[in-house]
Amino acid sequence: MTRPTGTTPGAAPPLDCPCGGAAPGRSPSAPAPRLAACCGRYLDGAAAAPTALELMRSRYSAYVLGRTDYLRATWDPATCPADLDVDIDAPDAPRWLGLQIKRFEPQDERHAIVEFVARYKAGGRAYRLHETSRFVRGDDERWRYLDGDVSER
Ligand SMILES: [Zn+2]
Repeated sequence: MTRPTGTTPGAAPPLDCPCGGAAPGRSPSAPAPRLAACCGRYLDGAAAAPTALELMRSRYSAYVLGRTDYLRATWDPATCPADLDVDIDAPDAPRWLGLQIKRFEPQDERHAIVEFVARYKAGGRAYRLHETSRFVRGDDERWRYLDGDVSER
């Protein structure tokens, strides 16, 4: 059996992180970090997102990658929908195009706000989801998404 030269057996190709490393003031044209160096370690459970900003980015990446388990684990149990199921192979599934972080505002040790714009296509139409999200930090020191105010147009 032959392999193409220059590949490592069993190694997946390095992937750009879906979140693009979005941060307030960051240029949308800046090169995206690798998944493993960005949201990958949170999605894999190797580490907990240290701030609400990193949690927000990793949740966006979880939507792109169809990681319902991660979305559920990082959603406050009081507000997480019981029927949450992100199926990226469904015919009507949104195709996420990019994330922009408008504002990251820590309020105190346990509360923070992240305002973002996520662009996606669904059913042949392009949408722009503009949300101001609230995050809370639990007794286990983990940040979770609580809820948000959405303006969609
Ligand atoms: Zn990322």
